[in-house]
Amino acid sequence: MLAANDQVAAGLLIQRLPMGGIANLSGTQTLAEEDAIGRNEDYNRIAILANSLTAEELLQLAPDKVLHRLFWQEQLKHFAPEPGLDSPRFVCSCNRERVSAMIRSLGRDEADSILAERALIEVGCDFCGQQYRYDAIDAAQLFVPGQPPVPPPSSALQ
Ligand SMILES: [Zn+2]
Repeated sequence: MLAANDQVAAGLLIQRLPMGGIANLSGTQTLAEEDAIGRNEDYNRIAILANSLTAEELLQLAPDKVLHRLFWQEQLKHFAPEPGLDSPRFVCSCNRERVSAMIRSLGRDEADSILAERALIEVGCDFCGQQYRYDAIDAAQLFVPGQPPVPPPSSALQ
């Protein structure tokens, strides 16, 4: 379940884990066994409880409060996120060099055409919202000989 408003985004994911033990690791688990997990009473109870969560609760309550409200009869294990590089955080790999390479891959004619129409080449990252702007001088510098080669399109922008 996902919910968002203009201030916060929140989500709850329930995941049915594969069967434990040697059978799972060896890949000898049968489809019938997999189906049995899906019909597992515990999992179904958790899914039904999770489904009772409203978007308002998800947005307004602290995670521990949400878990307590939904699963107060269950034995909960709480794993605190570890601070540091491994902790969840927002990261976007966009940067001006990548955007420049993408504009170079469009070619000089296309860049000039955009500039003629709008006076600026504006590229917005859909992931983080960063805006990149190139005026005619910035754009002209992208096409000066001796610039790094244009990378293949797959790595130009994410
Ligand atoms: Zn970005």
